[in-house]
Amino acid sequence: MDIHDRVISQKKLKEDEERLNIVIKASDLGTWELNLITDEFHYSERFLEIFGMEQGKDLMHNELLTYFLAEDLPIRKKAFKDAYETGVLYYISRIMWQDKSIHWIENKGKVFYTDHNQPQKLIGTTRDITAEKHYQQKLEEREQKFRLLADSMPQLVWTGDADGNLNFFSQAVYVYSGLSKEEIEKEGWLQIVHPDDREENIKAWEYAITTGTDFIFEHRFKRYDGVYRWQLSRAIPQKDEAGKIQMWVGTSTDIQEMKEQDQQKDFFISMASHELKTPITSIKGYVQILQSTYQKSEDGFLKNSLRIIDKQILTLTNLIADLLDLSKIKSGSLVLNKEDFEINELIQEVVYEITHINPGYHIDFSGLNLVKVYADKGRIGQVLINFLTNAVKYSPESKKIIVESFIRENEVIVSVEDSGIGISKPDQQKIFERFYRVEGKNEKTFPGFGIGLFIASEIIKRHHGQIWVTSEPEKGSTFFFSIPLKNK
Ligand code: ADP
Repeated sequence: MDIHDRVISQKKLKEDEERLNIVIKASDLGTWELNLITDEFHYSERFLEIFGMEQGKDLMHNELLTYFLAEDLPIRKKAFKDAYETGVLYYISRIMWQDKSIHWIENKGKVFYTDHNQPQKLIGTTRDITAEKHYQQKLEEREQKFRLLADSMPQLVWTGDADGNLNFFSQAVYVYSGLSKEEIEKEGWLQIVHPDDREENIKAWEYAITTGTDFIFEHRFKRYDGVYRWQLSRAIPQKDEAGKIQMWVGTSTDIQEMKEQDQQKDFFISMASHELKTPITSIKGYVQILQSTYQKSEDGFLKNSLRIIDKQILTLTNLIADLLDLSKIKSGSLVLNKEDFEINELIQEVVYEITHINPGYHIDFSGLNLVKVYADKGRIGQVLINFLTNAVKYSPESKKIIVESFIRENEVIVSVEDSGIGISKPDQQKIFERFYRVEGKNEKTFPGFGIGLFIASEIIKRHHGQIWVTSEPEKGSTFFFSIPLKNK
């Protein structure tokens, strides 16, 4: 008899079985087969292992059921019921080993039916997922911890996805706004932002998201009682190893009181500087009368005293003028009186004036070209005076200052370069802020209030120009401003 084909197909069957066994072993799956009519139960060695039973054990299906936690038995029961209808078994449950330890298992199976469509047997696999479950539990615990941390903070804490959609708010957000989770989800968080702050808010948020830079913004949030309070919001992007943004974590801090104190301070500055103006003007007038009266006097002490008083009055008047400007900027009433003028001529005048007051310094300027601008001459002169007095003040050793003006595209750039104490990189970004002065052993010796550059930058901003600095500590600084040329 030719049995070649039979031998070949048997050999192939055996090979297939071996291959299947290797796969099952490698996947760490326990396999089993349950006869649904006779309750006969077959299983692999790995299956016993998953249940913590010794190898070769003779296990009845009934006994197996005693391993399941009582509260998980309904889960199993329901899964079987569903399986008879759908043909597919799936459930996750806990089992208890003989040593009382708890383990998690995942079960999958397929139902086979008789010719009369009766469920006949179930063949399936069981996987030990205890380690995965523990890991998942740990993650959940960690998330719980962070939620608790966020909820216990008085600040409003929130997170957003990489596209900037906010997806978590701490309890404080709901308490502050009086809105429910559903209400914020439905209408969006922007509903609590003051209508006047919304447009800017969206712009700043979009900018942060597209550039991946920190978000810092001041806006008003509506409280549960309808009152708006100022908040300072900050958000930082959390990036993965490749630098891709994963999420945003943000906080909003109530700065209402700070804002109110700021307003009081501004009000005080404005009032005090106005009140000081009149007596100072009167003192100045009298000193000038005294100076001219005693011009020819022999009394050196008197003459010297009058000169010192006059100089100090100048310092005071400048300070008061700065404080008045500050108030004007704050209240939005700093108006520009624009006119056509020659910027190099103005620079020449200011350079002359500053050289006259500081005879020890050499200020180099050779702007000969005619450069016409349409700007507020007095205010641009004020910016120049600020640059030059700073250049003098912060260069006690080196007495040379270089002033330049040049045209780039449709604007004129003016620079003032000194070889003084210089400014560190982090400070360079801040010196244009109000009341910012560089802290350090050197700077204490230089008098000032840190408002000159703030006013200068506001003046330039109102001219649609730019102001900036390049500097190296110990080497010197160059301050620049640019303003548009006069339209032809
Ligand atoms: P003030 O000079 O009255 O303090 P400013 O607003 O004019 O105020 O300047 C702010 C700060 O910038 C100064 O306190 C100083 O630390 C720094 N600064 C300004 N100009 C220079 C300069 N030319 N060289 C070094 N530091 C400077």
